[in-house]
Amino acid sequence: KSLKTDVVVVGAGAAGLMCAAQAGYRGRSVLVLDHANKPGKKILMSGGGRCNFTNLVVEPRHYLSANPHFCKSALARYKPQDFIELVERHGVPYHEKTKGQLFCDNKASDILNLLLTECEWAGATVKVNCGIDSVKKTGEGFVLQTAEGEVQCASLVVATGGLSIPTLGATGWGFQIAEQFGHHCLPRWASLVPFTFSDRWQPVFAELSGLSVDVQVTCNGTRFHDPLLFTHRGLSGPAMLQISNYWQLGDALTLDFLPGQSVEALIKDWQQAGVKAELKNQLASLLPKRFVQQWLDHTGVNKPVHQLTVSDVESLADALHRFQVTPSGTEGYRTAEVTLGGIDTREVSSKTFESNKVQGLYFIGEVLDVTGWLGGYNFQWAWASGFCAGQFA
Ligand code: FAD
Repeated sequence: KSLKTDVVVVGAGAAGLMCAAQAGYRGRSVLVLDHANKPGKKILMSGGGRCNFTNLVVEPRHYLSANPHFCKSALARYKPQDFIELVERHGVPYHEKTKGQLFCDNKASDILNLLLTECEWAGATVKVNCGIDSVKKTGEGFVLQTAEGEVQCASLVVATGGLSIPTLGATGWGFQIAEQFGHHCLPRWASLVPFTFSDRWQPVFAELSGLSVDVQVTCNGTRFHDPLLFTHRGLSGPAMLQISNYWQLGDALTLDFLPGQSVEALIKDWQQAGVKAELKNQLASLLPKRFVQQWLDHTGVNKPVHQLTVSDVESLADALHRFQVTPSGTEGYRTAEVTLGGIDTREVSSKTFESNKVQGLYFIGEVLDVTGWLGGYNFQWAWASGFCAGQFA
């Protein structure tokens, strides 16, 4: 026997659950299928367990895509304020942490429960532990062979997300289905991810492991001013995750450890004031002592301030304002927050999210080649694309 439904959404994550509720409210019968044993595992893990569910300011410039115009329509039709209103309707307490980033006061499960409640109110059914073996197109729609038998539907929404963190249920299923139906997939990379190093700096970073400093990082003309975290294997923290969206193997990162200040001007001032203290003690008023010690040891400049020469000051400025390092790689999909690249959006409608090639086939969320910055932008994309597709599927 075969189950018949109007819409099947594959993937009970952020985008899939939003889409399912919207389609359900339109009176469509909706079945959400997920192979994992629980829905929304990434939501539960997100934002350090508190889910950075959106950002107060979301603009197309916060997203990367080979087709940068694609995201504009959905972002304009479903704004952060729309999701905030939903959060408030469900009585979920939240706060702004930094830079417009909104987090739950309590737990990320508040956001997942909100989505599951919306699905319930809309009459959408969510089935977990249900993998899909095959998908075939028929005259009327699609036939899926699933772990729980055959399912027929008129609309099929692919919301299986990216490849990051396989232990949370990530698979490449969405890309395979896209290719099965003649869609092109752009190359994929782990992104919003820490960097690893294999050069002489790795042991230095390891020595500083656990320490956080404010930096401005630049790569390929893009810059971010955020905290950096030293780790045993390299560099992490928001500044590194942000810039990883813009980094490719072989590219160097340029770090400024005193953004907005000038070490040349500071030393001039100190020398004019007759400061005779060791440079490391003097700099410790501006940067963590452990960092200063390591940095001066490895740059070879460590003298009393009044003895510093012009060339010492130049070396110091290179080390503190223009420090260049080339990562050997990243931590990869094991820890990455997102996947850069994905299904080519030039073959998908930016209004309906329907395939331009196959009627009734939709792609939403991270499976598409749309990747946001760190800071709630990836969930906002999931909500916006899910909401819009839910009006048409
Ligand atoms: P997902 O939410 O990943 O959902 C995809 C679903 O599809 C999953 O439930 C999966 O089990 C299911 N699936 C996969 N393959 C199959 C298959 N073959 N068959 C059936 N089902 C399948 N973004 C933010 O904006 N703010 C944050 O605070 C934030 N924190 C994050 C923290 C971590 C640790 C990670 C990994 C990511 C974080 N992100 C954050 C990114 C964000 O989680 C994703 O961009 C977002 O979840 C993408 O939504 P989606 O619905 O497209 O995919």
